[in-house]
Amino acid sequence: MRYVSTRGKAPALNFAGVLLAGLADDGGLYVPKAWPRLSKSDIAGLSGRPYAEVATEIMARFTGPELPAADLAPLVTAAYRNFGHPAVAPLRQIDAGEWLLELFHGPTLSFKDYALQVVGPLFDLVLRRRGLHMTVVGATSGDTGSAAIEAVRDRKSITAFILHPKGRVTEVQRRQMTTVPAKNIHNIAIEGTFDDCQALVKRMFGDAAFRDRMRLTAVNSINWARVMAQTVYYFTTAVALGAPARVPAFAVPTGNFGDAFAGHVARRMGLAIPQMVIATNLNDILVRLLKTGTYRKGPVHATVSPSIDIQVSSNFERLLYELDGYHAERVAKSMNELERKGSFKLDADALAQMRAQFDGAAVNEKQTLACIKDVYKRSGLVIDPHTAVGMVAGRARRKDPSVPMVYLSTAHAAKFPDAVKKAIGVTPELPPRMADLYERTERYDVLPPDLGAVQAYISERAAR
Ligand SMILES: *Cc1c(COP(=O)(O)O)cnc(C)c1O
Repeated sequence: MRYVSTRGKAPALNFAGVLLAGLADDGGLYVPKAWPRLSKSDIAGLSGRPYAEVATEIMARFTGPELPAADLAPLVTAAYRNFGHPAVAPLRQIDAGEWLLELFHGPTLSFKDYALQVVGPLFDLVLRRRGLHMTVVGATSGDTGSAAIEAVRDRKSITAFILHPKGRVTEVQRRQMTTVPAKNIHNIAIEGTFDDCQALVKRMFGDAAFRDRMRLTAVNSINWARVMAQTVYYFTTAVALGAPARVPAFAVPTGNFGDAFAGHVARRMGLAIPQMVIATNLNDILVRLLKTGTYRKGPVHATVSPSIDIQVSSNFERLLYELDGYHAERVAKSMNELERKGSFKLDADALAQMRAQFDGAAVNEKQTLACIKDVYKRSGLVIDPHTAVGMVAGRARRKDPSVPMVYLSTAHAAKFPDAVKKAIGVTPELPPRMADLYERTERYDVLPPDLGAVQAYISERAAR
């Protein structure tokens, strides 16, 4: 499979190249040159098979021929064997025709594990084959950091430095990062905000000498490999509910638009998803776009669903590239406009197409907490605030009650104990395999939000 940049000026690469590059060097995102297609009988043939087997079959269409199914299979099987549920991504019915897709059975309890547990070993495989070592640098506001750390821990080909804003992530989130006893993992608590952390990471990547000397790379959500791995559960869910004959609708709590875009990719590959609902909290840039046709940055609001407190949905650039008439030059122009003026406008055709493919709703704090409470009262089930955002939006926009609706449950409630306690008066418990999280030893260093200090820290510790 060949990959091209959404902005058209970077070289086309194969899968391994795209994996290591992350962002294209023209600032764009890599997308497959053509979508692999599954026929109805291919889709029917996925039914009843183990998750890892389906994952291998779907992903091999994107990683081949350099990384064929035979290379992927052992790595993918090992990755999902760590999960806390034998079905990996089980469905739970919550009402007539309504289902939760539980995506919190990975090692760090958010859906990000579903991609990163595969992407970490894929990085390692490609680096070992090329005889390379790389330095992963990332900023996190919570879930991504721990998922990335678990994905690359103890890998000899990678040293990782994860920056988090000191005192501004939940204790569960911090402990999930700082209690991992691996020599190749370094946690840095920055005395500042998440924006400070992200700005430091951007400046490190912008410093070409430093970037090349350290061989910096990122595993953030613009990496194509993450989107690819997330398409799998759209297929496993759909066949469990009767695809190809009957395909469910999906509602997706959305921040960077990686997860919702993965659903769109499943559609492009032949899965006839009748409705996709983009669910946001008060940070509603995509919902405003659907309403008004203008993509405009706003201020970031802090909410009870912090993992989607994002004002620019980076993966939206991939959808833009897909909309008719948005060839690379036009995508680059729109993205420049966004940077310069904070907004750009979709033309009428593109907007109509986007509306035909996605619905969306923005959910406020009161609705989110009320939904957690309602689900708890009616079924005794404790859901996390992001799942609640998806449910409220999915119910509000559901078009056809005869079509099953699946809400992506993107995190375990125990990751967000304060919000859940506020809603139902009960503190959600960590799963047994993590019950000793509060007793584990933490390891991290505190640094000021100063580029020189952070670069010196990394230089001293990065293996070369
Ligand atoms: C990252 C995250 C999301 C948003 O996913 P995107 O791909 O960024 O849209 C939703 N819920 C949780 C719990 C997350 O950690």
